[in-house]
Amino acid sequence: MAEINGKKRGPGEIKDISKRDEKTPLLALRDLVIFPNMVIPLFVGREKSIKALEAAMERDRIIFLVAQKDARTDSPGSDDIYEVGTLSEILQILKLPDGAIRVLVEGLTRVRIRKYVREEPFFEVEIDEVKEGARKTKETEALMRMVLEEFQKHVKMNKKIPPETVMSVSEIDNPGRLADVIAAHIFLKHEEKQSLLDIEDPRARLEELSSILQRENEILNLEKKIQGKVKGQLEKSQKEYYLSEQMKAIQKELGKSDKTYNEIEELRTKIKKVKMPKEAMEKALKELERLEKTMPMSAEATVIRTYLDWLIALPWNVTTKEKLDMKKVQKILDEDHYGLEKPKERIVEHLAVKKNVKGKIHDPIICFVGPPGVGKTSLAKSIARAIGRHFVRVSLGGVRDEAEIRGHRRTYIVALPGRIIQSIKKGKSKNPVFLMDEIDKMSSDFRGDPSAALLEVLDPEQNSTFSDHYLDTEFDLSDVMFITTANTLFGIPLPLQDRMEIIEINSYTPYEKIKIAQKFLIPKQLERHGLTPAQLAFSEKALAGIVSNYTKEAGVRNLEREIKTVCRKAAKERVTKLKSFRKITITEKNLSKYLGVPKYMDMPAKDFNGVGACTGMAWTEFGGDILAIEASTSRGKGNLALTGKLGDVMKESAQAALTYTKSRAGQLGIRDDIFRKTDIHVHVPEGAIPKDGPSAGITIAAAIISVFTGKPVRKNIAMTGEITLRGRVLPIGGIKEKTLAAHRNKIREVIVPYYNKKDYVELPDYIKKNLKFHFVRDMDEVVKIALNIKLAKKSK
Ligand code: ADP
Repeated sequence: MAEINGKKRGPGEIKDISKRDEKTPLLALRDLVIFPNMVIPLFVGREKSIKALEAAMERDRIIFLVAQKDARTDSPGSDDIYEVGTLSEILQILKLPDGAIRVLVEGLTRVRIRKYVREEPFFEVEIDEVKEGARKTKETEALMRMVLEEFQKHVKMNKKIPPETVMSVSEIDNPGRLADVIAAHIFLKHEEKQSLLDIEDPRARLEELSSILQRENEILNLEKKIQGKVKGQLEKSQKEYYLSEQMKAIQKELGKSDKTYNEIEELRTKIKKVKMPKEAMEKALKELERLEKTMPMSAEATVIRTYLDWLIALPWNVTTKEKLDMKKVQKILDEDHYGLEKPKERIVEHLAVKKNVKGKIHDPIICFVGPPGVGKTSLAKSIARAIGRHFVRVSLGGVRDEAEIRGHRRTYIVALPGRIIQSIKKGKSKNPVFLMDEIDKMSSDFRGDPSAALLEVLDPEQNSTFSDHYLDTEFDLSDVMFITTANTLFGIPLPLQDRMEIIEINSYTPYEKIKIAQKFLIPKQLERHGLTPAQLAFSEKALAGIVSNYTKEAGVRNLEREIKTVCRKAAKERVTKLKSFRKITITEKNLSKYLGVPKYMDMPAKDFNGVGACTGMAWTEFGGDILAIEASTSRGKGNLALTGKLGDVMKESAQAALTYTKSRAGQLGIRDDIFRKTDIHVHVPEGAIPKDGPSAGITIAAAIISVFTGKPVRKNIAMTGEITLRGRVLPIGGIKEKTLAAHRNKIREVIVPYYNKKDYVELPDYIKKNLKFHFVRDMDEVVKIALNIKLAKKSK
C-alpha cells in the first residue's frame, strides 16, 4: 500500500467554484450519496471510476461525486445518474494491492450537471453550483431547533451514531449546512438521501429532514417496544426451559428420572386390578390424569397420590366366605367365654335368623349393653371368628363431629376418610364384623349430625351407597355385619335404638369372676408371659382376695390386669433365679407381696349406719355400688340443704322424702314445730362423683327420720327404692348389680320395692342365700324394718 498523493488543500484554495469553468471528471457512486462538508472514504474498483480519479489527480484533485439511480447497474450511462451531486476534493488516495483504490474525499459544495462533455473513457461534465442563501429567519431558526431536537432523540435511540455527533452538529449555524450534516449522519435509503440533496432551498430541506427524522424516531421507538416484548417473552420461556432442565437434572441426580412415569403406569395397573365400581374407577383415572400433569414433588401431587392410594387399598370387591354353622358358633362362643348363657343364646338365635333369611331381609343390629369389662368386645370378636369374617373395631367414644364418621372433603390438605372407611380398609374385606364401641358415649357428647351419619351407616336401606366425603364416591357397606356396644341404653338416640337388638350383659358375681379368671384369664396371661401352670398357680382364696380387695368393678378388666402384674413378677423371678426357681403359688397370705397393699379397704357398710346415717344401693354404668347418706340438723328456719353433687332427680327425691317426714311427724313422734326452727342438711359422700336418679328416695327418707327421731338405722342393712309424697315405694332398676354390691360390702339384709320381686328370681343363688330380702310397698314398712319404729295410729 503506498500513498500516491497526500497533498492537502490549502485554505481558501478552491473557494470559488463558480470560477472554475473547467470540465470536471465525474465519479458515479453506487449506494451512496455524498453531502457537502462530509469527509468519507470510498473504495473505487470500476475502471471508468479509476480513470476519472486519475484525471482529477492530474488536474486540481477536484472530482464530482454523484449517485447512480440503481446501484445494481455496473456501467451506468448518463441517464442512469442523478443530476445533483457534490463537488469534492480528494484528500488522500491509496492504491490497494488488488488494484482497487481507496480515496478519502471531502464534499465541498452541491452542484448540478449542466451537461455531459464525454462519457468515455470516463465521464466528464460541466457543472453549475447550487447557490443557497445563508439567511436565517425565525422560521428557519425554529426549524433548526426542531430538527436538532429530533436528531438528539434519534442518536439516543440509534446506537450506531456516536453520541458526540450531537455536540458538533449543534454548533452549526447555517440552516442548509445543518440539514446536510445531519442528513449525512443518519441511516437512510440512498434514494431518500438523494431527494434531500436535490432540495435546493435550505428551509424546505430542513422541513423534509424534520419529517424524516420524526418518522424514523417513531419507527425506532416501535422497534424498541417490540424488542422489549420479544426479549421479555424470550426471557420467560428461557427461564421456564432453564428451570425444567434444572428439575430434570435434580431428578436424575436423585435417580428418579423415569420414576414418575413408572409410578403413573404402576398406579394405572393397580387401579385396573382392584376392580372398583365404575364410578370410583372413573374418579381414579381422572385423578391419575391430573397427577400426570402435576409436578411430582408438589403438594398437590402428594394429595392426589394419597387419594389414589386410598382408592386402591379399599377392599371394593373382597369378601370372605361366611360359615353359618350354629353348632360351631355355639362351640366357639363357649370356648372363649365363661357363662353369659343368655347373651350367647341370643347371638346364636340372631345368626340363625340371618341364615334362614339368607340376607333377604335386613336383620337388626346387635347392641351389647353392659358395664365395662364384661366381655362385649370379646363376644363380638368371637362372633367374627365363628362365622369366618374379619373383625374391625372403632371406638365412638368422644366423637362429636360428623366428619369423624364421614371424613373430610379433599379440599383440606390433611383430609382423610372417616372412621368407617378407615376401619373398612383395615378390615381388608367388604364384609367384616364391624364393632362400634361406646355408641352411647358418642351420642351423649355430640349434637346433631354424627348420629345422622351413623344412622345412615347402620341403615341397611341406605348403607349400600354410603358416601364418605373424602372418597367422594359410594362404598357399599351392606355386607358389613355391624355390632354396637354401650354401657347404658340411656344416651343412645331413640332412632338408633330402634335399629338395634339390645342384648344386656350384667356384672359378674365374685364367683363368676373367679371362674373366669381360672378358666380364661390365668391361662391366657400365663401363656403370654411364657409361664406354665406348673410354675405359677393361684389359690381360689387368693383370687377372691384380688376380686374384693384389689378391684372394684362390674367386669373383669382390672382383675385381668392384676393377674398380669402377678405373672410379670413371677416371670422376672423365674429369669433371675433360674435353677433355684420353685413353683409360685399365690395365696391369700402372699398376695400383698405381689400386688402391694390392698387398694380397696372399704369401710364396712355395716359399721356406717347410725343416727342420721343410712346405706343405700346405687347402680352406675360401672355396675352396682353402695351409697352412704347422711342427714344432720341445726338450728334454723326449716331450710333443706343438699350436697354431694346431686342431680335434679335426686334433689327432688330428697324434697319428697322431707315432705313425707313432715306429713308423718305426729305418727313418727316428731314435734310439729321442730321443722320451723331447724335447718336440715343431707349429704352424700364422695362428693366429687355426680349422683342422680330416684332410687335413693327411701334411703334419704330413712336418714331424715332417723335424725329427727334420734333412732339409729340398723346395722347391716341397705336399701333402694323411689319414694312418693305419700310414702309409697316404687320399683327401680339394676337389682342384680345393686345386691351384688351390697353382698360385696358385707351387708346382710336389703330392703327393695315390692314390685321388684320379679327380679329376685333371676338373682344368683348365693345372693339369695346370703342376703335377707325385705320387699316393701311403703315407707312405713321401711321405718319399721330399718329404724324399729312402729308408727302410731293416725291422730285425729
Ligand atoms: P368390654 O368390651 O365389655 O368392656 P372386654 O370384651 O374388653 O370387655 O373384656 C375384658 C377382658 O375380659 C377380655 O380379656 C375378655 O376376654 C375378658 N372377659 C370378659 N368376660 C369374659 C367371660 N365371660 N369369659 C372369659 N373372658 C371374659
